[in-house]
Amino acid sequence: LSLAPWQSCSSPRSIPMASSGLAPSAPCPYVGMWVPSCPLSPCRCQNWEGGIGGVPGMEAHGGYTFCGVAALVILKQEHLLNLRSLLHWVTSRQMRFEGGFQGRCNKLVDGCYSFWQAGLLPLLHRALHAKGDPALSMTHWMFDQSALQEYILLCCQCPAGGLLDKPGKSRDFYHTCYCLSGLAIAQHFGSGDLHHEVVLGAPENRLQATHPVYNITPEKVVRAVMHFLQQPVPSLEPAAE
Ligand SMILES: [Zn+2]
Repeated sequence: LSLAPWQSCSSPRSIPMASSGLAPSAPCPYVGMWVPSCPLSPCRCQNWEGGIGGVPGMEAHGGYTFCGVAALVILKQEHLLNLRSLLHWVTSRQMRFEGGFQGRCNKLVDGCYSFWQAGLLPLLHRALHAKGDPALSMTHWMFDQSALQEYILLCCQCPAGGLLDKPGKSRDFYHTCYCLSGLAIAQHFGSGDLHHEVVLGAPENRLQATHPVYNITPEKVVRAVMHFLQQPVPSLEPAAE
């Protein structure tokens, strides 16, 4: 956490590894470079708000923040972010009255951020747990799970089927996917022995739990991981003609 995000945004060149307090042993085999050295690395796009923007210095946005954090989780580099300021930013995006999330500061609530923003809390929970944070709940994510379910179920359903951004907007596949994805996160905490459910309303509202990084069922993630573990790491050399 010694890598202050505003420093990385104002200095576009590589931050020396020594100044970030990191001592990695090898570059990431998949991107072929040190993650902090990549000019558009998500940690360089974390700004003073705490969230991540599209490029360094840009306004923090829920979609970019989820994709950036999930990419760092896949690369096992999420500790490069300022996790406390990220937590402060994302928890401030749940609307006090509506119960749903906004994508950016001072914007209106939108159903699709039920996934992009609420989906950050499981990733943050895991990252903070790995750092030994003793204040973490073992039954709930760090957002109001019932209020989010209320917004999705009562305000985002189209009576003719499908889900939407907010009342008055039309349904579409994008909002149907991400409202439901967010609803699954709001219903299920953790996995295995720590799994804890909060299902608002009738039992048939319950969705299957999803994997917090890949947003598909955990069984499908296991099958995909088993497949790719059997594949060799692609060569960084250009293929011979
Ligand atoms: Zn939306």
